[in-house]
Amino acid sequence: MVETTIGEPGPGQALVRITDMSVDPYMRGRMNDARSYVPPFRVGEVMSGGAVGFVVESKDASLPVGTWVSSNELAWRDYGIADAKFLQPIDLAMAHASRYLGALGMPGLTAFAGLFDIGKFKEGETVFVSSAGGAVGTMVGQLAKLHGGKVIGSVGTPEKAAYLRDELGFDAAFDYHDGIGKQLRAAAPDGIDVYFDNVGGEQLQAAIGALKTYGRIVACGMISQYSEQSGAPTNLTQIVGKRLRMQGFIVFDHNDRMPAFRQEIAAALREGKLKYPETFIDGLENAPQALLDLFGGHHLGKVIVRVAPEGTKPA
Ligand code: NDP
Repeated sequence: MVETTIGEPGPGQALVRITDMSVDPYMRGRMNDARSYVPPFRVGEVMSGGAVGFVVESKDASLPVGTWVSSNELAWRDYGIADAKFLQPIDLAMAHASRYLGALGMPGLTAFAGLFDIGKFKEGETVFVSSAGGAVGTMVGQLAKLHGGKVIGSVGTPEKAAYLRDELGFDAAFDYHDGIGKQLRAAAPDGIDVYFDNVGGEQLQAAIGALKTYGRIVACGMISQYSEQSGAPTNLTQIVGKRLRMQGFIVFDHNDRMPAFRQEIAAALREGKLKYPETFIDGLENAPQALLDLFGGHHLGKVIVRVAPEGTKPA
């Protein structure tokens, strides 16, 4: 933790008081010094990431003091200065600020674009989603249910599985520690149409085994493989005989879907058709542990670090 003087915003910039920030699995990937779709974090520099807050000083007419904004530039700090083009105004009348880091933000759009645009999910189909209790998974399962699907989720504890069934309306949910293939077969004896992969490894292997002919795999993420890689899957040959399609995607290629997505999700949240669990961790000093805990399965839903005390708002 470093205390420093932040200076003043220049022309076209604003100074923002950060209230909430996101911790996400991709941040682990950006700690590898390797070429990827985003450059690695640099040692000694403040990390970036999704954050929301309000403008406290502005040199840009489009962002008056008090405007609530979200940004991908300003996490991991209490205050930050950014160009106006990196600060998107958010509407607190539509939803609480933290929602713009989850249900109405990057993880929500990932679920929406992944399920419909990549997975080509249709009414009546069966979807299996791994890490189903997480920021993306909770949304994938509920969206598929709202659009007439049958949904199976895998998670790391029996309590999370019960929550998915009892609170989020999943048709089936199981703890992957108790064996994946047999529990998947029991939940979907006729097989699955879409596998939304958040985990990779053994779960991807079990899903390949359970997919029907012409099934689709949405390769969203592989959290089980980010720190060390297992040998699974070992059954890729099934992709040929079953005519499966597996497609990776990166959410920011789908930003054009944001308006349609926000409209549908904000309405579903308002009407109580969709729930979006959030776990709040208080204090910027606890952000590193909150990030580490994503890889231990400690929390339910979207994990958000409260950088400013709850209820902090423009004077
Ligand atoms: P999650 O909230 O799903 O991540 C945390 C959860 O992952 C944990 O609570 C834990 O749940 C599960 N987990 C951690 N380690 C393992 C493991 N070894 N095996 C199985 N489960 C594990 O994160 P998000 O919802 O934000 O992201 C989900 C996936 O989507 C990630 O892989 C992420 O990288 C990817 N992603 C991809 C994007 C894209 O553009 N393609 C954009 C955003 C996310 P449990 O208790 O169930 O074990």
